[in-house]
Amino acid sequence: MSDRREILNSLMQELDLGGGVCSLVNGALRQGAGAAITLEDPYARSELTSYPDCGVDLAGEACEAADAAQKTWAQLSAAARGDVMQEIARAVTSQAAPLAQLEALVAGKPIRDARVEVAKVAEMFRYYAGWADKIHGEVIPVPSGHLNYTLREPLGVVFQITPWNAPIFTAGWQIAPAICAGNGVVIKPSELTPLTTVALVRIAEGAGLPRGLVNVLCGLGPTTGQAAIQHPAVRKVIFVGSPETGRRVAMTAAEALKPAVLELGGKSANIVFADANLEHACLGAQAAIFSGAGQSCVAGSRLLVQRSVHAELTQMISEGMNSITLGDPLDDATEIGPISNGRQYAHIQSMIANAATGGAAVQTRTDLPKEGYFVPPTLLTGLGNSAEAAQTEIFGPVVTAIPFDDEEDAIAIANDTEFGLAGAVWTRDLGRAHRVSAAVRAGTFWINSYKAIHVSSPFGGSLSSGWGRSSGTDALMEYTSPKAIWLDSGEVPKIAFGYVS
Ligand code: NAD
Repeated sequence: MSDRREILNSLMQELDLGGGVCSLVNGALRQGAGAAITLEDPYARSELTSYPDCGVDLAGEACEAADAAQKTWAQLSAAARGDVMQEIARAVTSQAAPLAQLEALVAGKPIRDARVEVAKVAEMFRYYAGWADKIHGEVIPVPSGHLNYTLREPLGVVFQITPWNAPIFTAGWQIAPAICAGNGVVIKPSELTPLTTVALVRIAEGAGLPRGLVNVLCGLGPTTGQAAIQHPAVRKVIFVGSPETGRRVAMTAAEALKPAVLELGGKSANIVFADANLEHACLGAQAAIFSGAGQSCVAGSRLLVQRSVHAELTQMISEGMNSITLGDPLDDATEIGPISNGRQYAHIQSMIANAATGGAAVQTRTDLPKEGYFVPPTLLTGLGNSAEAAQTEIFGPVVTAIPFDDEEDAIAIANDTEFGLAGAVWTRDLGRAHRVSAAVRAGTFWINSYKAIHVSSPFGGSLSSGWGRSSGTDALMEYTSPKAIWLDSGEVPKIAFGYVS
């Protein structure tokens, strides 16, 4: 096991992260002062290192540093901000290998997935670099004859809170649009996977990002996170995580009259009609729930299958599960790694046990790697949509297959959930594909596809999946606010004792 600690130390050296897990505040690596937090290797199930919670004082310093740096950043020409972001994209690409390894080691993410996610982070900075000088307001033909125009202004400092399932991907997803629009950032990654976010911002600073513009807090939600939400410099909170924590975050933000974006969980319906290409639908269904060991907010965790092909498709999926390679996340051949942490592992195990007690037929694999928090691909059948396994986010490689009779039935089951994040339909009938896409409540919906997402396309959900949007031009709207300017160009201004009309 000491080997893996050595890998960690050498990656931290290569990425210039200092001797331990530190927050990054105003360009300096700083040790926190709070309770000890343990970083565990989910494959070896052993401690990698531990570090103190960032704490309230350092969180405050970070917010003040972001506030000061933002004022200068917003004064730069928009094109110059874009140039810096292009440099960041190049620098991330040049450090892609150690970044991906660090993500794989600490988050338990298969290295092949980690490489893709790091490449996507570079793409996010490149994409928003192009937007930096294209954010502008509009001229509105108001009836009073004023010249009325809008400016889209940065908010100031935004506070971002991210989860452990895709740490560097989520950091890039939120930091890039925020700084593109001229904001300063304080970001708190999950205490379980903080290092790649610190590394990303270190690399960005090396590429020209002004020190203090983006600060990373390595620490706990109830202490460090709550302190930053309440700091007066913070103007908006962007939260990615579970509905339970999202509610708490939104309440603290609301108390301080601050807006929030919430990117929460899901229980997405992946709907397969009898006329679909079942081979494609089977591969799609497996990718939807088993990739990333199901630790994905958009995972297709409810598989709705038309009754006439239900037995055939579930048989195909059950056979397909046996050919997925489980193993060490650092190994190139691994398709599914361990569950990212012990807490999540216990949650998934208890959800599977409850489902079995509730009458589910559980199909799974027993040939697991000896070490690690492994949960094999698991298929549950024999449950209705009201079962716990069909209503509660499991966030693991566990899919509940539910039969349906016709289109109306499929839509009703798909929408019978508190969530509204994503979904998909598999069919050869184009009209039906459009009808189902329109009728299922989801922020993202795929037709004969699954899990295609891109920084240029809006992403988000409704109800218990949250509110607001990330990515695309919608993220730029979230990270700016419009100001309306009214100019009276008449020789004698129109002045009324009341509203000017
Ligand atoms: P979580 O809610 O436990 O934690 C998320 C973040 O919130 C962490 O950084 C944590 O430290 C912080 N936090 C915890 N308590 C806090 C508090 N009281 N105040 C402020 N911050 C606090 O979620 P998780 O277990 O890390 O991640 C899994 C969840 O994230 C799943 O529900 C998943 O669906 C969701 N998720 C959603 C999206 C999306 O875009 N919709 C993407 C990825 C993950």
